[in-house]
Amino acid sequence: MEDCIFCQIARGQMDSDLIYEDELVIAFRDIDPQAPTHILIVPRHHITNLDAATDENVQLLGHLALVAAQIARQEGITAPGYRLVTNVGPDAGQSVPHLHFHLLGGRPMHWPPG
Ligand code: AMP
Repeated sequence: MEDCIFCQIARGQMDSDLIYEDELVIAFRDIDPQAPTHILIVPRHHITNLDAATDENVQLLGHLALVAAQIARQEGITAPGYRLVTNVGPDAGQSVPHLHFHLLGGRPMHWPPG
């Protein structure tokens, strides 16, 4: 995906505040943070969103979740608590069509979200 900004970040063609990477996943700070900790966990492989994921992505999806939990521990937000969110489609406000999880923490959050 030539034009996808998260693919470009994953290929190192666009700068990001990268905090984690492995062969499957990258994680970087959101450019417009909605909480004191706001990190995006992103597969290197382009998948438009969770609805486009298939059985082939089961291991990858588990890995994304475990990387998020590991980063939360590193960020010190596990005990107070955090939220892990993925937006799918316009009603959810998905603005970047490349699967990603938002890791949000460092402040109390309301439920249900607005
Ligand atoms: P979503 O609206 O769920 O698709 O989330 C996309 C997120 O990507 C938003 O929170 C944006 O602030 C964030 N974002 C967009 N471009 C960049 C970028 N170049 N670096 C870091 N975060 C970005």
